[in-house]
Amino acid sequence: MSKLSDLRKSALRKGAGPSGGSVFTNWAGNQTSTPLSIQRPTTEDELASIVRDAAERGRTVKAVGAGHSFTGIAMTNGILLDLSGFDKVLSVDGNQVTVQAGIRLHALAEHLAAHGLALPNLGDIDVQSVAGAISTGTHGTGLAFHAIAAAVVGLRVVDGEGNLHDLVGEDLRIGKVGLGAAGMISTVTLECVPAFWMHAREKGMGIDHVVSVFDDWCETEDHAEFFWIPNTGAALTKRNTRLDTGPAETKGLKRTLRRLETELTENVGFGAVCRVGRVRPDLVPKVSKILSMGSSERDYVAPSWEVFATPRRVRFVEMEYGVPREVWKSAFREVQALLGTIDVPVFFPIEVRAIGGDDAAMSMASGRDSVFIAVHQYKGMEYERYFRGVESIMKRYDGRPHWGKMHFRNAENLAPAYPDFDRFLDLVKRLDAPGTFQNPYLDRVLGNR
Ligand SMILES: Cc1cc2nc3c(=O)[nH]c(=O)nc-3n(C[C@H](O)[C@H](O)[C@H](O)COP(=O)(O)OP(=O)(O)OC[C@H]3O[C@@H](n4cnc5c(N)ncnc54)[C@H](O)[C@@H]3O)c2cc1C
Repeated sequence: MSKLSDLRKSALRKGAGPSGGSVFTNWAGNQTSTPLSIQRPTTEDELASIVRDAAERGRTVKAVGAGHSFTGIAMTNGILLDLSGFDKVLSVDGNQVTVQAGIRLHALAEHLAAHGLALPNLGDIDVQSVAGAISTGTHGTGLAFHAIAAAVVGLRVVDGEGNLHDLVGEDLRIGKVGLGAAGMISTVTLECVPAFWMHAREKGMGIDHVVSVFDDWCETEDHAEFFWIPNTGAALTKRNTRLDTGPAETKGLKRTLRRLETELTENVGFGAVCRVGRVRPDLVPKVSKILSMGSSERDYVAPSWEVFATPRRVRFVEMEYGVPREVWKSAFREVQALLGTIDVPVFFPIEVRAIGGDDAAMSMASGRDSVFIAVHQYKGMEYERYFRGVESIMKRYDGRPHWGKMHFRNAENLAPAYPDFDRFLDLVKRLDAPGTFQNPYLDRVLGNR
């Protein structure tokens, strides 16, 4: 499938539900729901009237962006909103850009580039919808930079009865990482930055060396991250330096070859090795060895959004925890040690990155500079004992789970992790008195509201 992955093609199967309805499955294939109906609004009026109508009939509504969350956060047996046609850029005013909620990050990046602008930071893919990305606190890396939601300066939402509200001031701060609970987002205004380039450097290194220098990198590099390959002493490192300008020629053979190399190593080759590891768990140490040898050295300059994001076609499930920056090393070392004690084959790399603290109430980096440790398991392989083991480590380090990635926490043990948890619940009550946007995941992580 193309990078412009279409939700309708990838995740909605018509007529597959028990009563002949559609079935919605997320990207990872680990969450499924059977919506009552699927609506595709293209205007704000349509969006509001669908919600109003649903509320009057006592039905629930859930928007889905690109279906790239691993949790059940976007699942619904009520009305599912496919916002792929609600994806226009509405205005560009200096650095402030207002868009409809369903626009994908890669499409937004192209629009911004045409205006000499860019998003200040991105994660490692760009297929998410802007609303989906900000609603779950999606982030990239860079201690001097922030999660995507930190760029949000305006949100217009439909409440649970179908009325429109512009979130401003404290409501915006509390509601911008809204988990899909604090209103249905209609439009998003983002504070962008002048377009920039990045000098990317990727290199395989020894994990002990990387662990010893990562704190320095967080201070001195604009963006740094590493992937440790379990069962080996090897890590792939990525460091990016922001540049105001770049080469005049951005397309052409060099770029095509770079993309082809990425496709071959990170998707085709990686996928083939993963399949071997899944059918022959006894070969996992060898699989890890092969992966550790596959990390080639790369050095190139490209527009920011091209460097940040990579197509991901190898499917997996993931858990990611943000811990206070000061304790990341011990938490990471404990995860390494855990792998030696559990009887679960793991070869999928463990990713580590850092992000600056922000003020959004429900951001995983709220109020603290954070290091994120992400564990993955190849699709179809056992993950629960591994992820639960990692979670029990992260809890001891005051970790906060990514809202869009797998975890086993609930409202009772999440509330103490977020100083503004109750204020967020108050906003949710105000914006969704009838519970139109509820689903089982939100019931678990926010409790009975
Ligand atoms: C391969 C892969 C790589 C990833 N890389 C990263 C990464 O680098 N960094 C990171 O932090 N995360 C990453 N993620 C996680 C991903 O960014 C988040 O799960 C994100 O929420 C997915 O966006 P989406 O558009 O698919 O949203 P969905 O999963 O479709 O929805 C997420 C939430 O947003 C809500 N929502 C969508 N539209 C609206 C709306 N209009 N109003 C209100 N709520 C709405 C949904 O109802 C749901 O609650 C990755 C996931 C995958 C599968």
